[in-house]
Amino acid sequence: MFRRISDMIGRHRVFLITSHERLDGDALGSELALFHMLRGLGKEVAIYNQDRTPENYLFLPGSDGIVRELPPLEPFEVAFILDCSELDRIGKESARVGLIPNLVNIDHHVSNGGFCDVRLIDPQASSTGELIFQLVRYMGLTMTGEMANCLYTAILTDTGGFRYGNTRRGALLAAADLVAGGAHPQWISENVYEADPPVRIGLLAAVLPTLTIDEGGRVGSLTVTQKALADAGALPEHAEGFVDLPRSIRGVEVSILYAEMSDGSFKLSLRSKRNFNVERVARAFGGGGHINAAGCRADGELSEIRRRVIEAIRASASES
Ligand code: 5GP
Ligand code: MN
Repeated sequence: MFRRISDMIGRHRVFLITSHERLDGDALGSELALFHMLRGLGKEVAIYNQDRTPENYLFLPGSDGIVRELPPLEPFEVAFILDCSELDRIGKESARVGLIPNLVNIDHHVSNGGFCDVRLIDPQASSTGELIFQLVRYMGLTMTGEMANCLYTAILTDTGGFRYGNTRRGALLAAADLVAGGAHPQWISENVYEADPPVRIGLLAAVLPTLTIDEGGRVGSLTVTQKALADAGALPEHAEGFVDLPRSIRGVEVSILYAEMSDGSFKLSLRSKRNFNVERVARAFGGGGHINAAGCRADGELSEIRRRVIEAIRASASES
C-alpha cells in the first residue's frame, strides 16, 4: 500500500488534504506533516477542515494556511483523507470531497469501513501520524524539522502523552527518530498541554459537580451542558480532555464525557483502562474509535442516554 500511495504522489500534482470534524492533534499533525512533505516535492497542496483549529494547535507550522471553505474542486487530482474511519467524518463537505477523482485514506481506527480503494489502514499504529512517518521513510524523503514537529505532536497526543495502550515500540521508535529529525518535545508539550486559556479552568469548575460514579466505582462520568458553557463563557473545545478526569480515579475503568450540543443532542467521549472495549459501546450508538478511546452522538433525554450507555457498558463487559 505504501507503494500505491507513493506512486499516486509521483503521478499527480494538485492535492487536497482533509480530516475529521472536531480536530485533534493527530488529525492536524498528520495533515500538516503531509502538507510539508508534498510541498517539498513541489506539489500544489491545500488543507481543508470543517472545524476551526483549536488554539493549542496553532503553534503547528503551516496551521495558518488551513482553509475552512472547500476550494473549487476542479484542480484537485487526489484527496488525502486522514484519521477518518468513514468518509462522512469529514463533516458537511464529505460528499463533495468524495467527488475528487483519487481518494487516499490513511487511518488507524479499528472500525474503519474501507470506504476508499487506496487506503493505508493499520489499527496497530498508534496514530495516523505514525503511518505518515512510515510513508516518509518508505519514500526515502528528508524529515524536515517542520514535519518532525507535526508528526511528534500527532503521536504524542493520540497516545495521551505516551500513556495509552497504543504506546508501543513503533510509536516510541518513531518519536525518537522525530526528535533526531528536529522535533522539540518540551516545546510541543508546553503548547499542547500547558497553554490553556483561564476560561477552560472556569468551565472545569462548573463541570466538576456533575461527576458521577456508577457500577460500583467502575464507571465515571462528567457532563458539560450548554448552560455550563454559557456561564463560563467557554466554547465546546475548552472541554477537550475533561474525559480523562474520571478515568484518573482509582478503580474507574470506563470514563464518559457527555457534552450537550447546541441542538440539544449529546456528543459522548469514552475512555477506558486496560482492555475494556469502549469502541463496542460507541458502536452501539452508531459511533466508533479505538478500544480505549471512542466516541458517538446520542439524542434524547440525558438520563435515558446514561441508562442506555450503562446497558451497553454491561454488554461490552460481558463480551470481553
Ligand atoms: P473523542 O472522544 O476524542 O472525540 O474521540 C475519541 C475517538 O473516537 C477518536 O479516535 C475518534 O476518531 C473516535 N470518534 C469520536 N466520535 C466519533 C463518532 O461520532 N463516530 C466515529 N466513528 N468515531 C468517533
Ligand atoms: Mn488518530
